[in-house]
Amino acid sequence: MNAYKGKLSYDPTQCIVCQTCAFVCPAGAINITCKALKQSYDFIIWHNSCTLCGNCTYFCPTGAIALSDVRAEALPQSQKYTAITSSTLTFDRCPKCAEPMIKTPEALLNKGFSRLDDSVVALFSLCPKCRRESTFTKRVL
Ligand code: SF4
Ligand code: SF4
Repeated sequence: MNAYKGKLSYDPTQCIVCQTCAFVCPAGAINITCKALKQSYDFIIWHNSCTLCGNCTYFCPTGAIALSDVRAEALPQSQKYTAITSSTLTFDRCPKCAEPMIKTPEALLNKGFSRLDDSVVALFSLCPKCRRESTFTKRVL
């Protein structure tokens, strides 16, 4: 990840690549591209385009993206395309079926569960399909 300090900070370890931030950004300042058959994502913030509306930070479910302490940043034209935060997010593999998957960060689990125990953390380390199967097996069999 490049370390440009712009209007937004971004923590790839907390990002679940839900793409909400890109969807709600009125300035088109966030670009997320899936690469080569679900192997990785490119995540780019164009700080020059950001209007500081705060939509992305408000709707991000994990707090992965946040407004920094940089506010009125006027950039020369020559830096228009270099004032970026870019990161490549690599898919993990489901420990059960080896399908590519995005890890669920603890910040998200904390929102959904009042108490996190090992069984919940283990369940959410699986891909959605294996998680469903595991829950179904426990409930039905
Ligand atoms: S603060 Fe607003 S304009 Fe800037 S990246 Fe987020 S959603 Fe886009
Ligand atoms: S930064 Fe937040 S809103 Fe954007 S893709 Fe990552 S988790 Fe989703």
